[in-house]
Parts: sequence; structure tokens; C-alpha cells
Amino acid sequence: MLLSRYFLPTLKETPAEAQIVSHRLMLRAGMIRQSSAGIYSWLPLGLRVLRKIERIVREEQDAFGCVEMLMPTLQPAEIWQESGRYDAYGPEMLRIIDRHERGLLYGPTNEEMITEIFRSTVRSYRHLPKLLYHIQWKFRDEIRPRFGVMRGREFLMKDAYSFDLDRAGAIRSYNKMFVCYLRTFERLGLKAIPMRADTGPIGGDLSHEFVILADTGESEIAYHRDFLHMSLAGQPVDLEGDLQPLVDAFTGKYAATDEQRDPAVEAALGEALVTGRGIEVGHIFSFGTKYSRPMNAVVVGPGGDSVCVEMGSYGIGVSRLVGAIIEASHDEAGIIWPESVAPFVVGILSLKPDDAACAAIGQRMYEQLVAQGIDVVYDDRDERAGVKFSEMDLIGVPHQLIIGPRGAKSGQVELKDRRTGERQELAVEAALARLL
Ligand code: ATP
Ligand code: MG
Ligand code: MG
Ligand code: MG
Repeated sequence: MLLSRYFLPTLKETPAEAQIVSHRLMLRAGMIRQSSAGIYSWLPLGLRVLRKIERIVREEQDAFGCVEMLMPTLQPAEIWQESGRYDAYGPEMLRIIDRHERGLLYGPTNEEMITEIFRSTVRSYRHLPKLLYHIQWKFRDEIRPRFGVMRGREFLMKDAYSFDLDRAGAIRSYNKMFVCYLRTFERLGLKAIPMRADTGPIGGDLSHEFVILADTGESEIAYHRDFLHMSLAGQPVDLEGDLQPLVDAFTGKYAATDEQRDPAVEAALGEALVTGRGIEVGHIFSFGTKYSRPMNAVVVGPGGDSVCVEMGSYGIGVSRLVGAIIEASHDEAGIIWPESVAPFVVGILSLKPDDAACAAIGQRMYEQLVAQGIDVVYDDRDERAGVKFSEMDLIGVPHQLIIGPRGAKSGQVELKDRRTGERQELAVEAALARLL
């Protein structure tokens, strides 16, 4: 991408309405623009990050055998009346009446809709288990939308749903999603701790929230210190094998949010207990027949009897993650993207674009990186060097190639690491070799 042709409306001033750093940086970096309270346009830079997060979430869902589909944003009121949640959900649900006076709603979640699809298409236990997901916009009329995309009213969620014949199957599905979430958040460069959680209006008895540590988080959390060092660390996972031991390793240690906290256990943990605040980025539930029973989602079982299916649901806040990653990774100069989600992985800064040697090197490096399929942004604008440095840092590009007129004469460029600030002078080919 040539920056001269891009659309990157950055702000110099810190926007007064933004209370937390991720919101400030997303506005300053020209990633989003508020349209009304809790509703945003995603500008090109923000959309790039959103799509990269979405892709990682999708790849991991697919790897665990979850099958993608797409349900609409608008849902008929009837299915929510069937489950009993139409009234129970309260004012967070945006209700709409169409021209024929039929009740619609903008979906805050999709348990009813997927149950309706399942019950009208699956008849036999032989088609179980099933794991289905979609990545779709949701609407919740939050009483206090704030912190930018972290608590929006319109937001992008990945929600998956499992259907099993019995409790043992439901737990296998739950464990798959549990491990899938560990892997997903690790790939996003985040330390997410699975915590015992309240099931809220979704219902059920088995539930974990995945929470990342951040002082600005809205959840009060307490966890065993060991979590700080626990990770899958890229170890291979046998997706068809028994995942219970791995899940047990993570659920065996104390970690709880809000109402699930246990003062007696916490007292006993003593020095090993860490308390603080966190951001909920994912939430998984196993809720048995809470929806399948009232909505009559049954299959013919092995013995010819009719069995109400066991269900679970599994959410990830895709758009919230954009803000959450920034909360976890930034400095005074701006955002520091983990490479996996960076809008551009490499930035080229030409400090003197009208100098022939600078222009030639810039163009050559740009073309080579593009040819290799690397997401590269080339700041070819006629701007002061200071502006270029600060914008490249603000938008958080991990690897920056700096071309100055003096170095360019002898074929040298500087390679800067956004995270450490380290700079190294290298010949053009050597610098490129580092990045390819
Ligand atoms: P919260 O406690 O923050 O209100 P929730 O528990 O109501 O979230 P869930 O119903 O568990 O949310 O939805 C699954 C995921 O969707 C959450 O873990 C979160 O990452 C995301 N999410 C929920 N509400 C919002 C929102 N208003 N804006 C952005 N993301 C959200
Ligand atoms: Mg909520
Ligand atoms: Mg919650
Ligand atoms: Mg939740």
C-alpha cells in the first residue's frame, strides 16, 4: 500500500471523549469513527486488523472441526418467544416492527436461531455431534456503551454452537472449544486466562470466561499465580484425542470472575493469589437442554427413542479483541501490534522521497515485499521525517525500513523494531532477507 493513496485520517490531538488508551489510540490512528453511541465505522486500517483477527479465529474454529455458516442479523421474535427469552432478555435487545407489524429483533446472540435450524434439519443421532459457527454482527443496547469497540452496541462476534446426544458428548465438544480458545488467544499474542464464570442470561451450569489482564478491564478477577506461566506454547494438540487432561490442567487451578469468587479458597491460596482486573474476550457455556427442550430440538436416538439434544455455545468478541490487544500492547508512541494481527507487517519510510537514490531503494524494496505477499505500507508522502516516524509508530507497524539520503547513496537502510526501538544499519538486501 502506498500511503499517499491510502485513507489514514490520523488525529494529532488526543480525543477528549476517550477514557482508555485503546480507544484513544484507535481514534488517533484513524482505525474507527463513531457514528452514534457504541456504533462505529471501521476505517481501512481498523478493518485490516479486524479481518486478521477474524481470520485467526476462523482458522482455529475450522481446525477443531467447527463448520462455518452465516445467520442473519435480524431474527423473528417468535423463536425468542418459544425459548422464553423474548421478555427475559430485557432492554438490551433492540426490537423492531416491520411494515406487516411482525416483531423482529437485531440478534444479540443466536441460540434460538441455530436451534430452530437444527430441529428442522437434523433427525437422527447419526448426524451428531455437530459444531457450527458464524462470525456476524450483533447488537446489544448496552446501557453504557463506552471504551470504544470494547463495549459497543453493534459489535462483531464469533459464536459457535454444539449439538450432542448426551452429556459425555457435550463435554467433549466443550473441551474442544476450550482448547481451541487457548490456541486462538495465544496466536493473537494474548495471555487469556480461563476463569469459572457466571452463565448469565445464556444459562447452564458449565462455563468459562477467557479474560486478559488489563487494569482498565471491567471484570474483577482473582487467579492462581501459576497462570502467569501457563501456556500451550505451540505444543501440538491431538484434536481427535482425549482433551480432558489438558482442560483439567487449566481448570484445576483457581481462577474466577465476579460472583464466582470464593473467599475461603482465596484465603487458603495466600501468596499464590493474584487479584486485579481483566477484559472478557471469550465465553463458553454448556447448557444441556435449556433451549432444545422448550424448542423441541430432538433426534431419534440409537434405541429408536426421541432424545432432546445437549447444547453449548461459544463466543469470542472479535471487535472487542481489537481494543483488548491494544490495551495489552502499546507504549507512549502508540500501538505495538503482534505480528499476527498487524495491519501492515512492514513499513517503509522514505525520509526524502524526491532524492533519486531514496526513491529507487524505496520502490525496489516495496516491490520485492509485495511480490512476497507481505503486508507492506510505503510512506512515500512528501511529509517531514518527524511526522513519518511518529505516524508509523502510532499505527504500530512492527518492522520499519528507514531510507535516508546519506545511507541510500551507499545502499544502506535502517531496520527498526517497533517493540524494542532497536535500529540496525544494513545493506538493502540484508534488510530484506530479515523480513522475507
Ligand atoms: P460483558 O460481560 O462484557 O457484558 P457478556 O458476558 O455480556 O460480555 P457474552 O454474552 O458472553 O458477553 O458474549 C460473548 C463475547 O462477546 C464476550 O465474551 C465479549 O468478548 C463479546 N461482547 C459482549 N458484549 C460486547 C459488547 N457490548 N461490545 C463488544 N464485545 C462484546
Ligand atoms: Mg453483557
Ligand atoms: Mg460477561
Ligand atoms: Mg459473557
